[in-house]
Amino acid sequence: MLAMACAPAVIGRRNGHDIVVRGGTVFDGTGSEGRELDLALANGRIAAIAPRIAERGREEIDARGLAVAPGFVDIHSHGDGTLAEDPRAESVIRQGITTIVVGVDGSSRATGAAEKSFSALFDSIDGWHPSPNVASMVGLGSVRGAVIGDKDRPAAPDELARMAAMVERALADGACGTSSGLEYTPGAFASLDELVALCRPNASRRLPYATHMRNEDDRVLEAIDESIAVARGAGCPLQISHLKTQGPRNWPKLDEVFRRVDNARRAGVDVAFDRYPYIAYATGLTNLFPVASRDGGIDAFLARLADPAVSPGIRQQTLAKVELIGGWDNAQITSVRAAEDRGAEGKRLGAYAKSMSSDPYELTVNMLRRNRGDVGMVGFAMSEANLERILAHPLGMVCTDGSAFAVDGPTRRGSPHPRGVGSFPRVLGRYVRERKALTLTDAIRKMTSLPASRVHLADRGRLAVGLAGDVVVFDPARVADTATFEAPFQYPVGISVVVVNGAVTLRDGQRSPGGSGRALRVV
Ligand SMILES: [Zn+2]
Repeated sequence: MLAMACAPAVIGRRNGHDIVVRGGTVFDGTGSEGRELDLALANGRIAAIAPRIAERGREEIDARGLAVAPGFVDIHSHGDGTLAEDPRAESVIRQGITTIVVGVDGSSRATGAAEKSFSALFDSIDGWHPSPNVASMVGLGSVRGAVIGDKDRPAAPDELARMAAMVERALADGACGTSSGLEYTPGAFASLDELVALCRPNASRRLPYATHMRNEDDRVLEAIDESIAVARGAGCPLQISHLKTQGPRNWPKLDEVFRRVDNARRAGVDVAFDRYPYIAYATGLTNLFPVASRDGGIDAFLARLADPAVSPGIRQQTLAKVELIGGWDNAQITSVRAAEDRGAEGKRLGAYAKSMSSDPYELTVNMLRRNRGDVGMVGFAMSEANLERILAHPLGMVCTDGSAFAVDGPTRRGSPHPRGVGSFPRVLGRYVRERKALTLTDAIRKMTSLPASRVHLADRGRLAVGLAGDVVVFDPARVADTATFEAPFQYPVGISVVVVNGAVTLRDGQRSPGGSGRALRVV
């Protein structure tokens, strides 16, 4: 590591401490037990950690009785989608998250192409002055889309070479890994060989391939095997995104999932995974429909739904998927584009169809047509017991998989999955304090050093002198999520102070103006 032992005295003496957090139980993020200590920040970094820091800070924070931890790192976030319109990212910051890892599920805002480079993306993120730090993977679906388009066909050799060069450039510019979304188009059209070729640039850097697997229900074991095969073929670590076994009939497969992960690790593949603490997933409503029906983009999809030659088959497969998650009332609409469907937001599809006196399948198809496919849903399809086991597993990390929004301003719209505002406090409140599924120390590790080291954020995820000044102060006895599927626009409680790069962003519910987050370029 860096020679940091002598750094703090220099930082401290030059300008004095900016912030001193006093008397809290300090968890360093590595899994060590908490200790009662003072912590000082200066010039954006941690300047001192000691039983008693004599020098006063320009800002003093009394943390007696509270936990002091590294700012949380969300290894699977969609929070970048609204950063340009609302860089406050309130739902992120108010969970204690100080770094989001975006570009996941195969979809990133840059591709590594010269005209859409990660350097330019990182510069624009810096220009937004966001509240949290932002690291990004390169999405292999976005790369494929840029080179091949929406078509379901193999990549030609020259196309594969171009895509690999884009990935290489993305990583050279500071992207923190590759991601795939194999249930989405066009990502789903990638073969195993293509994925291996595009993840090879990860190998020498030891950056992970993060995958939303090809299947998370009836073929979840095959999907695990494919994911492991990609990582083995490419020689890189594997991060299984939002691990789950969807649908009650697949819940018993979790033991076998863990067994395959263990076997792969024994064979030398560095596998780990993450999960958000809810039993409902969120996705596009089109995801209830078979991948083949979505080949070629939205116009081709809508045309097939109207084509009597293929629509009965699509209907049959979609109804099977709905049955797998337990029926139409296990699907809830989160967002629509068309004004006339606004009434569907926040409603279960079965109940909504009944209220409209229509058949739920026909209603779904018509809604997709009116909204040109742009309808969001959550599906209640996962097991609570499995969720606890996934969170508690030594290889499991905590993620939100959520969007960033606020209770006020332009990002308050639709009825988003509450995970975007509740995930981290929900783990600390419900799964640590109430259900005791994991210890506080371990939960903090899964929110900090584990994800930070996974994507090589070398000076984040731990509290040590010289590291970046990302800190969260919370009350382990009180921390909790309050957002629900019915009322998602509610901030968590019990998180009192959030510091990003040495600047207080949130204190006792009050926001500081401006954001101190920045793009994190991984080298
Ligand atoms: Zn996903």
